[in-house]
Amino acid sequence: MKVTEHIANGNGKTQFSFEILPPLKGENIHSIFKNIDPLMEFKPPYINVTYHREEYVFNELPSGLLEKKVVRKRPGTVGICAAIQNKYEVDAVPHILCGGFTKEDTENFLIDIGFLEIDNVMALRGDAVKSETYFTPEKAGHKYACDLVSQINNLNKGKYLDKELQNNAPTNFCVGVAAYPEKHMEAPNMESDLHFLKKKIANGAEYVVTQMFFDNAKYFSFVAKCREAGITVPIIPGIKPISVEKHLNMIPHRFHVDLPEALIKEVIKCKDNSAVRALGIEWSIAQSKELMEAKVPFIHYYSMGKSNNINKIASAVF
Ligand SMILES: Cc1cc2nc3c(=O)[nH]c(=O)nc-3n(C[C@H](O)[C@H](O)[C@H](O)COP(=O)(O)OP(=O)(O)OC[C@H]3O[C@@H](n4cnc5c(N)ncnc54)[C@H](O)[C@@H]3O)c2cc1C
Repeated sequence: MKVTEHIANGNGKTQFSFEILPPLKGENIHSIFKNIDPLMEFKPPYINVTYHREEYVFNELPSGLLEKKVVRKRPGTVGICAAIQNKYEVDAVPHILCGGFTKEDTENFLIDIGFLEIDNVMALRGDAVKSETYFTPEKAGHKYACDLVSQINNLNKGKYLDKELQNNAPTNFCVGVAAYPEKHMEAPNMESDLHFLKKKIANGAEYVVTQMFFDNAKYFSFVAKCREAGITVPIIPGIKPISVEKHLNMIPHRFHVDLPEALIKEVIKCKDNSAVRALGIEWSIAQSKELMEAKVPFIHYYSMGKSNNINKIASAVF
């Protein structure tokens, strides 16, 4: 079922959803199931599975020259989605990127997930590969998520890349896209970022999931700006509980979001990381309760592959 249909079925009640990462190469699917199992009692209608592109590692040769090696540490997004739909009978939402994909790769990925009866896909640009500063698209790939959304929307109309293809079966994907209550790091200002968010929706995206935020006021103000800009689709808030002290620096550095002063002060008071983890849970519970009062359609939890803190939050909230 489509995410938009799940939203309609919620009849105004906030529902639970979460995102998982494929395990590191070498681990098996049971490490994923172990984290999903305890969350199933909160009846997530769908589960997102992130996509991780290749990384470059440089090995020093005896000659002193560097050898570039391409590695993918977390493959398996499509396989995990199929396993989730099979085992739990809930919808799986694979993420797909512009980065590392040619248009042909994109089409083939979409054909695969269509055959698996996956109804939703989250369309993202992806970040620059770790050793580079700026994002570079593949030569025959997409530069921005809005163009990826257009390709998916074309396929939904039966328009494949090969114009001469006969008997084209249209796909029927519901497309989600990302948005940033504190602005995407590369956007020159919020207005510009909203302009391109609007473009993703004009090109066929039907709902939005936000980057994590730790101050609900940022989400509420962002939703108000989107509505003013004429964006009418559901905007699902993304929540991540902090769990270790180093998140104070790692999260702003990696995700370009601020942490509120009150949260920072409490983290600094914590004796150890188990106290930080408990604090992160309490903070996310308070955020979730306020978001529920505001009748958001879903809360999307960033689990980062570990479910026990999400379990405690969901127990207190859902
Ligand atoms: C909910 C969520 C899930 C995510 N999942 C993953 C994942 O699974 N794997 C992963 O690698 N990353 C993931 N990311 C991270 C995401 O890939 C990065 O934040 C990336 O830098 C931007 O992706 P986007 O889809 O928002 O890009 P875009 O919408 O393409 O925007 C990127 C930047 O370009 C600007 N822009 C957009 N369109 C245009 C245009 N036509 N012309 C000029 N400028 C434009 C925007 O304002 C923005 O600054 C996720 C992020 C979120 C919020």
